[in-house]
Amino acid sequence: MHFSELALNKPILKAVFEKNYESPTQIQEETIPLVLAGKDVIASAQTGTGKTAAFALPILQRLFHQQDVNKNAKKIRALVVSPTRELAVQIEEEFQVYSKYTNLRTTVVFGGTSIAPQKDILKKGVDILIATPGRLLDLRKQEIVDLGHVEILVLDEADLMLDMGFIDDVLKIERLCPEEKQSLLFSATMPAKVVQLARTILKDPERVEVTPSVSAAASVRQILYYVPKPKKIELCLHLLRNTIKGNILIFRRTKNGVDKLEQTLIKNNYKVASLHGDKAQSTRQVALNSFKNGDVNILIATDVASRGIDIDGLDAVINFDLPNIPETFVHRIGRTGRAGLEGIAYSFCSADEKEYVTSIQKLIKGALPVDDEHPYLLSPKAKPQVHKKKGSKHKKGRKSEASKKNKKRWY
Ligand code: AMP
Repeated sequence: MHFSELALNKPILKAVFEKNYESPTQIQEETIPLVLAGKDVIASAQTGTGKTAAFALPILQRLFHQQDVNKNAKKIRALVVSPTRELAVQIEEEFQVYSKYTNLRTTVVFGGTSIAPQKDILKKGVDILIATPGRLLDLRKQEIVDLGHVEILVLDEADLMLDMGFIDDVLKIERLCPEEKQSLLFSATMPAKVVQLARTILKDPERVEVTPSVSAAASVRQILYYVPKPKKIELCLHLLRNTIKGNILIFRRTKNGVDKLEQTLIKNNYKVASLHGDKAQSTRQVALNSFKNGDVNILIATDVASRGIDIDGLDAVINFDLPNIPETFVHRIGRTGRAGLEGIAYSFCSADEKEYVTSIQKLIKGALPVDDEHPYLLSPKAKPQVHKKKGSKHKKGRKSEASKKNKKRWY
């Protein structure tokens, strides 16, 4: 299919072609006609599928189409609610690109930065607002934002929004919008609570599902390392020195873990930036930009801080800690191996994370290949015994039967 078959207006198509998109992605092909037809949509799609354009293009089309006759010009007619600040910024950037040849105005508001400049822009009037829930409600409380003219409401990354505890805010925001409106809900996963939210908000929705997200796992080469928890840092340094090159995204489960690893890597002369929820918005944006610009080649992040962020040209993902939700693993590794390039995901599993491997393998319907030849495989106590075996047939002590038994002992 070609974009020109999607009934989009010339100014929008022009911007799309300038981005060198040749054809719509699956989610775009399925979602754009539904949104243009005014339907409510519930779509399961993760980042990297082109989901932002799947809602941005038809929203622009609908607003652009009515613009000349609409008395509500420069009133918020489309509202996109996003769970994280980085994601909100990214969505706004896409809207700016696609709306380049229209005179529709878009802006983004999010917490963690000064509210005054956001107020100034809003007072001048915008057609499309992208917002994180907290700041949006703040602005509404201060009567800077009026949601009474919203025609299209988008809830992006709904599963993350609920995981982050935004359910009440989201429901409040929805009630502040007119009853008669079009609602679109995008979510990477569809747990019961998202389905419940969809039932509350959407009217007779059309369902769109792009190729199950687990297929992302197929295009990424996987390597699993069983390693004692205290040795993970050493394994990471070892791999960075010897094996993993290029742009690397490292995931840790906790903010503290991100900080600790960042300090260690900096001490070892690596160029590193990091993202987590406790950092000020400006610091997070600087970190993300320095990674995107290539000033640093390693970014360490928690899942929440990095979810939905589109980073091109990733060579590798390191799962320094394994996520306890298997879908999160698929999101993480989906960042690499994009657009036909081979990516590699390195996953570290300590004894207490073994059950996570089981659920990940179940979800991706395949085994994660294990590298059992790295130097941190055995517990420190077990290792010398293996190396004492001089004259053994096994040149590498760690491949011996004794070592295999020891391996079993802890993972
Ligand atoms: P998203 O899933 O919205 O985060 O989009 C992932 C990336 O795909 C973004 O960098 C988009 O600019 C890009 N993209 C979106 N639609 C297309 C398309 N039809 N062809 C090529 N790239 C696209």
